Amino acid sequence: MSGDVEVATINTYEPPKALATSPMDYSKFQQRFKSFLVKDWTKMPLELSPIACAMKGWTLLSGESIRCDFCNRTINIVLPKKNYELYKSHTKVLEDKLMSEHRIGCVWKCELNFPDYFITMEFEEEGKLEEKLLCNSRDISQHLDAFNYVQTFLKVECLTENRADLQAYAEAGDVDVIPLTVAAHGWKVRSLMQNRLLHCEICCRKVPLWNKAHNVLDLRKHFAWCPWIYAHSSSTTPVVNRIYTFISQQLRIKRKRKSKDYETSSQRKEELKEIVKYMRRSLT
Ligand SMILES: [Zn+2]
Ligand SMILES: [Zn+2]
Repeated sequence: MSGDVEVATINTYEPPKALATSPMDYSKFQQRFKSFLVKDWTKMPLELSPIACAMKGWTLLSGESIRCDFCNRTINIVLPKKNYELYKSHTKVLEDKLMSEHRIGCVWKCELNFPDYFITMEFEEEGKLEEKLLCNSRDISQHLDAFNYVQTFLKVECLTENRADLQAYAEAGDVDVIPLTVAAHGWKVRSLMQNRLLHCEICCRKVPLWNKAHNVLDLRKHFAWCPWIYAHSSSTTPVVNRIYTFISQQLRIKRKRKSKDYETSSQRKEELKEIVKYMRRSLT
């Protein structure tokens, strides 16, 4: 009988499920993150975003209550709605609690450095980036008519400034520049009844495409914490910027290859002969 009591006591402090939790387990991170993808939590401030909470070991329990699976502590996340100053100060207090509320001995009691793909959630393999980007662009191409009324696409800065690169990359990949631009901002097109909308698979933002009164489409409209537009750590960059860096690298490689072709071309050989002749003449 006393044995049963002892087992119950031990289980209260160290449940087997908690012992199995490893901070570096990506599938557990995904489980915690996905628990937050419910109505309203996506609109939380950056400091208490689904990613910020998941990175510090918290899972959404219900409503406003979050729990650590390891030490079983819970925090109620309630923010005042009307007073902005109070909202900011409460946010700071709750942000600190994400770390301080863990019990001593909890695996989440210290800052941890996660691999980049925990935060960017996609594109863990650089080799698959091109395939994914072009494949997604081709899917969006099926819905080109959904963008007919759009006159201006508001883009993330790196893609606004480098339109020519985007155009050149689209031509090289044999896709239209509009679907490529939309895909490079992290969107997929979904159908809803007769209508279409943009959808982000990470932050779950939905942007309707059927409101023809709005001829300006803001492609930056992810939730503020979405890794497509926000860097959660000093070692990561927003995914949009990463896509642009990839595009410009690919273009450089392609141009280099072209110039190599030129180096070995007969035109180049003729030019070299002329240069050699000129040099000889100058030396004599
Ligand atoms: Zn804990
Ligand atoms: Zn997003």
